Amino acid sequence: MSVRVRIAPSPTGDPHVGTAYIALFNYVFAKKHGGQFILRIEDTDRARSTADSEAAILRALRWVGVTWDEGPDVGGPCGPYRQSERSEIYKTEADKLLASGAAYRCFCTAERLEEMRAAAKGKSFVGYDGHCRGIDRAESDRRAAAGEAFVVRLAMPKTGETVFADRLRGEVRFDNTQIDDQILLKSDGFPTYHLANVVDDHLMGITHVIRAEEWLSSTPKHVELYKVFGWQAPEWIHMPLLRNADKSKISKRKNPVSLDYYRAAGFLPEALLNYLGTMGWSISGDREKFTVPEMIEAFTFDRMSLGGPVFDLVKLSAMNADYLRALDDDSVVKRMREWRLGDEYLKQLVPLVRQRMQRMDEFLPLTEFFFSGDLDYAAVAKDLVPKNRTAKDVAECLLGFVEALDVQRDFSHAGLEAATRAYAEKIAWDPKELFMVVRMAATARKATPPLFETLAVLGRDLARRRLRLCAEFMKRQSRPASQTA
Ligand code: GLU
Repeated sequence: MSVRVRIAPSPTGDPHVGTAYIALFNYVFAKKHGGQFILRIEDTDRARSTADSEAAILRALRWVGVTWDEGPDVGGPCGPYRQSERSEIYKTEADKLLASGAAYRCFCTAERLEEMRAAAKGKSFVGYDGHCRGIDRAESDRRAAAGEAFVVRLAMPKTGETVFADRLRGEVRFDNTQIDDQILLKSDGFPTYHLANVVDDHLMGITHVIRAEEWLSSTPKHVELYKVFGWQAPEWIHMPLLRNADKSKISKRKNPVSLDYYRAAGFLPEALLNYLGTMGWSISGDREKFTVPEMIEAFTFDRMSLGGPVFDLVKLSAMNADYLRALDDDSVVKRMREWRLGDEYLKQLVPLVRQRMQRMDEFLPLTEFFFSGDLDYAAVAKDLVPKNRTAKDVAECLLGFVEALDVQRDFSHAGLEAATRAYAEKIAWDPKELFMVVRMAATARKATPPLFETLAVLGRDLARRRLRLCAEFMKRQSRPASQTA
């Protein structure tokens, strides 16, 4: 049987570095075994999924250098590869489970579920109480036909354990009393992640599910679904999560997580891939530098360790330095052009500064901050704090603003201006005051080209990174001297 593996990102935000990490191990495993690597878009969350995010994920993964054999853009024999285009399939499969009694319709209203949760407060398990589980088939059909709203739930066994093997963990056991009667189809007829994921993995012939550890607790539900469908389950391999330096799960508060940041900050994709390959895995002894073909050659899950791998920007930068040094001069020039020194980027900068240039030799001093990474705020520390505000206020203001920008997909000049004005209103700051703080946080200067054009050209990822760093800087400023010493 040929190996078929997949990644299944949900297009609900920025392309995540964790997606590239999981993609790399799937890709390497597929290539090692002469199999296929599939990319499937899991956009069952209709409210949060966007075409823009999907495009960004595909673009970022291509930049990193993992390529898929089948996917929404390249097609393949098991398409469509976007779950929103497969609704009929999930409905048909859910009907089979209703017919066999492995699933049931639940007619509970939002109010009843609310009461149930309130009554269960303080108990160790707050799952569905099975209120509709006993409704007989004829009655359930009649109510559905009469137009009553319902969801479809999995009838999980209520006794015993669900046991499965995980390649990295051995036998994993879950007590069935702790597993909810998972909703499979929502009242709008759309599937939940669990149903769509299992149905697709089966129909797409997935042999090994290599995914992040955070999905381990969903696996007993998936194991049960394979059982009641009568399908052969894939092999389970739950990869250790990437961690921040303090060992917490990697998060944008403590580490840039968007792949677009790494691209904008001038990392080489091959260095990033190499670094991701060392996360929890070793090629041999303490060797850290290797190419993807070398990784494929040597790959085995036996050399995976489960202690949470720390994703460390300093280490990644050191690895990037190694890769840069290994390039010849011509190649470095070529890579820098692809980064920010090409016509495309320069053409965005020229209109911002040409009115202020008397001679061309002023171009670089005027635009220097578009080419640098993290900035030093010491020189503008005093100016960063508006009159009658404190450093702490500025830190909080900036963090709140970054959160607003996290969900701001429209990064055009006009979109940014609207978002910034809205935020000023929300926190009751004078817009001018806010504009000045944001300007200095994004550039470490008091005078720059117009703010929103500047942010737009800087891009989402560098802009957000700098605002966060500036907030951290302001937090340190606000601590009494005894604490900073
Ligand atoms: N859609 C899930 C995600 O966003 C897929 C998890 C899985 O691989 O099963 O990561």
